Amino acid sequence: MTAVKKCPCKSGKLFSNCCEQYLILNTEDDMDYANTLLVEWIKKYAPPIKSEFSKKMKSYVFRISYFLEVLIARYLYFDYEANSKSDKSINETILSIKHNTLLTIFGGFSCFEQGLFMQSGILFRSVIENCMVIIDLCEHGTQRDKFLKDKYSVNGLVGRVKYLIPDFMIDWYGYFSRNFTHFGPLHSVSIIPAKCWPDNWLLVTGIQNIVRSCCAFGLTIERIHFDVIRNHFFWERKEGDTSMKLIEDGPVWDWLEDIRKDILNQYPPNERKEGIIYSDKSIKLK
Ligand SMILES: [Zn+2]
Repeated sequence: MTAVKKCPCKSGKLFSNCCEQYLILNTEDDMDYANTLLVEWIKKYAPPIKSEFSKKMKSYVFRISYFLEVLIARYLYFDYEANSKSDKSINETILSIKHNTLLTIFGGFSCFEQGLFMQSGILFRSVIENCMVIIDLCEHGTQRDKFLKDKYSVNGLVGRVKYLIPDFMIDWYGYFSRNFTHFGPLHSVSIIPAKCWPDNWLLVTGIQNIVRSCCAFGLTIERIHFDVIRNHFFWERKEGDTSMKLIEDGPVWDWLEDIRKDILNQYPPNERKEGIIYSDKSIKLK
């Protein structure tokens, strides 16, 4: 290792007083330790991928962000309606899970805009799981009790909540699990983040993944705060009825369909540009 005065981490300190002692692994090669891949990724490669993404996708991102904002403004800060004393102590928990879920949507989006497609899906799967946990805790007193005793488990979660959420949400959970979180068709394919975003399929699928996460989040937080708001987007309850029914032809579904049609039209997923190598495997999800 060549002696340098200033530390390459750019702290302004001397190398010997800063990071030198932490570079403990010896390498045979002439490694350029001032330009390592993670730092290069953060500083050099990711920003142009993000900026190109923004150019291509800004109107979709704008619409999604607006949609999310309406949901946040309506439902994020409501307390969970406590029925008993013990339920009151779970208020803060529900609020924290809601916050974390929103931040996980941001995390999934941040990964995706940097071209980290598969990694974004892992986070979106986590969004759907959090949503199911919120519903499980809000609708099942026994699960709340277990939670308060530190005995709560997500084992059997899908079975517990599936009568309370639409089938498509379970399908999305399966889709994110099979393809992104667990070893699936994407894990053995090289999807290299590319500044030019040559593969429309990635753009379209990634945006759909974000939309699905936002919808799942929206219908979850509306469901648990149904009674404190009028003009529902996702759920309805007929007078005298105790259970809720999904509004199947509401404006949300039109919005979703419009985004889908627009993006498919603007970025046909099967389009192949000359000079670019595409992986057919990547478009065969389970
Ligand atoms: Zn340093």
